[in-house]
Amino acid sequence: MVSTKIAMHQKSLKYKYRPIELSRETFRLVHGFKMKKSLDVFTQARREGRNYLLEPEAKIVCMEYGIPVTRFKVALTQDEAVKFADQIGYPIVLKIVSPDILHKFDVGGVMLSLKDADEVNTAYSKILENVKRHKPDAKILGVLVQEMAPSSTEVIVGATKDPQFGPALMFGLGGIFVEVLKDVAFRIAPITESDAREMITEVKGYPILKGYRGQPPADIDAIVKILMNTSRLVMDHKEIKELDLNPIMVYEKGAKTVDARIILE
Ligand code: ADP
Ligand code: MG
Repeated sequence: MVSTKIAMHQKSLKYKYRPIELSRETFRLVHGFKMKKSLDVFTQARREGRNYLLEPEAKIVCMEYGIPVTRFKVALTQDEAVKFADQIGYPIVLKIVSPDILHKFDVGGVMLSLKDADEVNTAYSKILENVKRHKPDAKILGVLVQEMAPSSTEVIVGATKDPQFGPALMFGLGGIFVEVLKDVAFRIAPITESDAREMITEVKGYPILKGYRGQPPADIDAIVKILMNTSRLVMDHKEIKELDLNPIMVYEKGAKTVDARIILE
């Protein structure tokens, strides 16, 4: 008991707030307009009265911690969406960026697999139309233009805050493995590399990651890195109440976070 207390005390001593500054350029990327000076994403969210980060903000935080995410830019106009799609490369995904919409897909705010400029143009108007219909007063900041990650084995990395032990990490395979079978592994943060490897091997779906029926094995080292970096992130930012990297596409080489959600206390 005493040793747990000491360990927790040591953890609290290590806690150091690391501001994640949005440079003027990244701020433009996320909010569509330029700031006079750089601002911390968490401070910015609070100032706006939000208790969560927008997807592009959450992805900037991920990038800061070496967690791979899909390439993206926030467009303010339809022409800009086409321009950014060309720069990023097809196929493209468009998503609504709004402080009033947490679940983008449910309001018709996500359009996948867009193949060319025509499809981007149509999808752009369709998203705005859908969002206006579902939530007429939603404030729209822009449309997120992002790289479409090829489908692959999907995993989920999450973090929640245990009132007694602080941040805890979660790992599972995507889809029915987590939602139906509750096949997940948990560890209290911070985790070591061997903790991360154990989390991955202990889920029942592990054989799928190792490759089966001629399927290539998934890049386990990439998942280990994501778990350890997520651990660092939640240890550095105690204001994070919940984090959800869901899904992460895992390839033979590398992985990519497709959607990132960060809820603040
Ligand atoms: P929501 O806010 O509703 O969770 P998401 O950003 O997760 O919206 O998008 C919904 C789904 O669309 C994802 O779960 C994923 O299956 C798919 N998706 C989203 N972005 C991409 C992407 N860049 N590449 C491939 N699939 C994607
Ligand atoms: Mg999602």
